[in-house]
Amino acid sequence: MALKNMEDLVALCKRRGFIFQSADIYGGLKGVYDWGPIGVELKNNVKREWWSAMVYNRDDVEGLDAAILTNKLVLRYSGHEDTFSDPLVDCKKCKMRMREDKLKEKGVCDYCGSTDLTEPRPFNLMFKTTVGPIVDDESYAYLRPETAQGIFTNFKNVMDTTSRKIPFGIAQIGKAFRNEITPRNFIFRVRELEQMELEFFVKPGEDEQWHKYWIDTRKKFWISMGLSEENLHFEVHKKEDLSHYSKATTDICYRYPHGIDEMEGIANRTDFDLGSHTKNQSELGITAKVKNNQHSISEFSYTDVATGQKFVPFVIEPSAGVERSCLALICEAYTEETLDNGETRIVLKFKKNIAPIKAAVIPLAKNNDQLVSKATEIKNELQSLGIGRIAFENTGNIGKAYRKHDEIGTPLCITVDFETLEQNPQTVTVRNRDTMEQIRVPVSEIASYIQDFYKK
Ligand code: ATP
Repeated sequence: MALKNMEDLVALCKRRGFIFQSADIYGGLKGVYDWGPIGVELKNNVKREWWSAMVYNRDDVEGLDAAILTNKLVLRYSGHEDTFSDPLVDCKKCKMRMREDKLKEKGVCDYCGSTDLTEPRPFNLMFKTTVGPIVDDESYAYLRPETAQGIFTNFKNVMDTTSRKIPFGIAQIGKAFRNEITPRNFIFRVRELEQMELEFFVKPGEDEQWHKYWIDTRKKFWISMGLSEENLHFEVHKKEDLSHYSKATTDICYRYPHGIDEMEGIANRTDFDLGSHTKNQSELGITAKVKNNQHSISEFSYTDVATGQKFVPFVIEPSAGVERSCLALICEAYTEETLDNGETRIVLKFKKNIAPIKAAVIPLAKNNDQLVSKATEIKNELQSLGIGRIAFENTGNIGKAYRKHDEIGTPLCITVDFETLEQNPQTVTVRNRDTMEQIRVPVSEIASYIQDFYKK
């Protein structure tokens, strides 16, 4: 049986150390979450798989890690100061504030059902912060609302240092901040989020075919990560719903417990960003670079060496949220099974590559020095294989350990028992998460067994 509701998932995430409400000892901070010992492993695995697919396994993408604190001019000339806003309405009856375009029923308060709402007014989602010791009207910067602008402003730096030719892309994973009017649905809509973004620069005129290419490529990626095709939906934005920079956007949506909703957006940003940064720098006379006391404007144009044609590249942007990706992967993996004895088993059937813990080594009894020492030896050997985190489970309760590792999706549990010590050659029990089958594997072969398991 699959996941029925978000409450079961939130409870599991807290119980097993995936995700905690941030600052919960002080009542929390709305729309902000902390990732626990298991969650951080899942998140890192998802980011690593994305980075491999987008950077390492291709020959046309470079990586970048730009700053979070952003010069206000960047976000002024990218259009965010004026247009990065959502429509805010107040309920005149219960005084709650809501995002008008996300109301459960149009024109009706989500909280009290009243239809007495104010007219929608734009609410800018960017977080402002002061920079430096003097606080005045000018000494502010923004926490970036998307990682993309750091890529655009470094376009020339990356071009100059890598000699790339178009088409090519710049990939980045990092935090972004949005002062969402109503954070909701657990980690689906948060105020502090992480994005995995690629800006792929192409020749104008070739943008539409590259847009299709990226929609298709990203779909294949999500299927390879374990999301089933029937839970994925593709939503083409209507012209009137497009962001200020976009010519066309297709969202990859997932069937979450709260409904089908966006996980990744793939936008054709045209030459909007590179073009407007170039235009505004020259109009303002901004000197972006100082070389040998010579000032020069960073022009974000590209000259095709073959044809001599100079143009501002168009940009295709696949942008996925780490939180929404992890949420989809946890939902997809969540399975409830009824065992022969009538008990319910909860298992997260993650694909091996994203499983937070790769294997748990469990001595059958916790106070037996010989068992503990053999298990420690095996744990250390497996940890050195470099496949990811190996857990050492020294609680002395094998049933509990299996239940826990089923619930966090550990593909294999390795138990060191008294037979291990007595047998010659020594063997351990390996239990498979999905089949619950247990086999005995010689200790001398356990490392190659695990390596083979993770290779397949
Ligand atoms: P929405 O319409 O749901 O507010 P968006 O269209 O504004 O999202 P984009 O600007 O396209 O989102 O951002 C790219 C990706 O970043 C989204 O597909 C999503 O995965 C993630 N993202 C954006 N805002 C949030 C948020 N508040 N919380 C979690 N993830 C987010």
